[in-house]
Amino acid sequence: MKTETTLIDLALSQTGTAVEQFALQDATQKDASGRQEVFRALIPTQIPEDGEQYAFEVDVDRCSACKACVSACHHMNGLSPDESWRRVQQWFGENEHHSWVHTVTSACHHCVNPECMNGCPVGAYEKDAISGIVKHLDDQCIGCEYCIWKCPYEVPKYHEAHGVVRKCDMCSDRLANHEEPACVQACPHDAIRIQTINQDRLSHELAQRRFKDNAIYPGAPSSAITQPSTSYLSKRSLDKTHWTTYQAPVSEAKPHWPLIAMLTMTQWGLGMMLSHFIGFDNNSISTVSILNHGLGLLIFMIGLVSSSFHLGQPRKAWRFFLGLKKSWLSREILAFSLLAFVLLADLSHQFFPWIPSTFHAARAWVVLSLGLGAVLTSVMIYHDTHRSSWLFPRTASRFFGTVLMGIFTANMLLNFGAGEPSSGEILSLGIITCVLGGMKLKFCLSKAPDKIVKSRLNFVFGLGCMGMLITILGSFLKWPETLILMSLLLGIGIFFTLEIIERYQFFTMSRSPSAARVHPPVIP
Ligand code: SF4
Ligand code: SF4
Ligand code: SF4
Repeated sequence: MKTETTLIDLALSQTGTAVEQFALQDATQKDASGRQEVFRALIPTQIPEDGEQYAFEVDVDRCSACKACVSACHHMNGLSPDESWRRVQQWFGENEHHSWVHTVTSACHHCVNPECMNGCPVGAYEKDAISGIVKHLDDQCIGCEYCIWKCPYEVPKYHEAHGVVRKCDMCSDRLANHEEPACVQACPHDAIRIQTINQDRLSHELAQRRFKDNAIYPGAPSSAITQPSTSYLSKRSLDKTHWTTYQAPVSEAKPHWPLIAMLTMTQWGLGMMLSHFIGFDNNSISTVSILNHGLGLLIFMIGLVSSSFHLGQPRKAWRFFLGLKKSWLSREILAFSLLAFVLLADLSHQFFPWIPSTFHAARAWVVLSLGLGAVLTSVMIYHDTHRSSWLFPRTASRFFGTVLMGIFTANMLLNFGAGEPSSGEILSLGIITCVLGGMKLKFCLSKAPDKIVKSRLNFVFGLGCMGMLITILGSFLKWPETLILMSLLLGIGIFFTLEIIERYQFFTMSRSPSAARVHPPVIP
């Protein structure tokens, strides 16, 4: 009996699944050497010349999202179950006539100007002088995760068990032996290939384009940041104006608790000590003054020590000086180490009177300049990641705001150490503290995910202001000093807690430049 051929039969006979096409392709090749010829066409036959480097080239029209590349990379590099150096995403495009969807594979772009390498404090990256491949040196890494923030594509992945980050090395060992990288070899559609590009030409082309329109694929960050070498090809337009862009679903980033503690406590503690050093404290030998200074130093040191819990390999951190030339993280470690040394040396003069007195006389200016310089390096670490919520004005106002909170709240305490508290000073310091705390709260509320969180934060802020109000009223109306001190300590404690919450949101609400504008969904 004659059977009719349906449209579905026709469609299937023309395309088939990726696996079917792969099987068909293999079957039609005369022998294994035929496939070898295909592989050879997927990698350059010669090593790059001066000013050239290897680069991925991805034919978007060929990618079918079969994820053979992801699987091959996983197998070849022995990755953990939750680790992936290659990913496959979807893009949605449209013009006035029709719309379309593309699936596309991406990995490290082996950039001409690799920001991951520039930010690493211990030189755990190198860009190969011949191949241009950006390699990560696992045995040098201290697991600070800064390169993840520095890479606009968030390519490096942190490996919890090993305490280091890892990433694609373009299967450099295989390439050196004229073998294709695992992902290139595994793709049934030959969608990925390795080509040789001229670095100067790439930089020149990027410089010609407008800053925001030079992304390598729709929704990617500006290529001006790192000059990624990967190129994407398609018969359709890859102009970002033809692609649907949509907001990333809000999912919280890691909070990094050791860094929250480090930033908040070093800045607040520094503020407390600066109130002693820069002359607000008129009675530097009072018990309260010494207690304030000691407490400030203790808070500062706890913050400093807590930062080491952030590192996957803290014992290797002594090599931080290797990145001083380019890395703000190296500079931050140096600045805070020097500051800690000066503060401890200053403390030691109580016990070692033979230390030259000129050192102690100059300490105020040394601590002031070193302290503010150290906080500035902290600001620059985050500004340098190109994340919109971490740019200089926002980060500087947050971090230096915490120093000011430390200064003003400490001065309110010091007023009690001066014997007769000055009501006028308490009033002005209390108002300044509440205004500063309110500005900090505004940072939190602008990013707070829901109304309940917002109302709770407002309530906490109100409690802090209440503590300050009781302190101010008590100092004017001559209430018992214990009551005033208790309400002041309550207010200070609440404002400090608000600082922690503000810093929690600083980390959890940050978005990489690639996620800030669009979010091509990763295919699970
Ligand atoms: S894509 Fe990211 S990890 Fe890869 S070289 Fe560029 S900056 Fe470094
Ligand atoms: S030391 Fe830090 S910046 Fe350097 S590779 Fe390791 S995690 Fe990245
Ligand atoms: S080149 Fe090698 S390491 Fe890089 S994504 Fe492909 S298989 Fe993975």
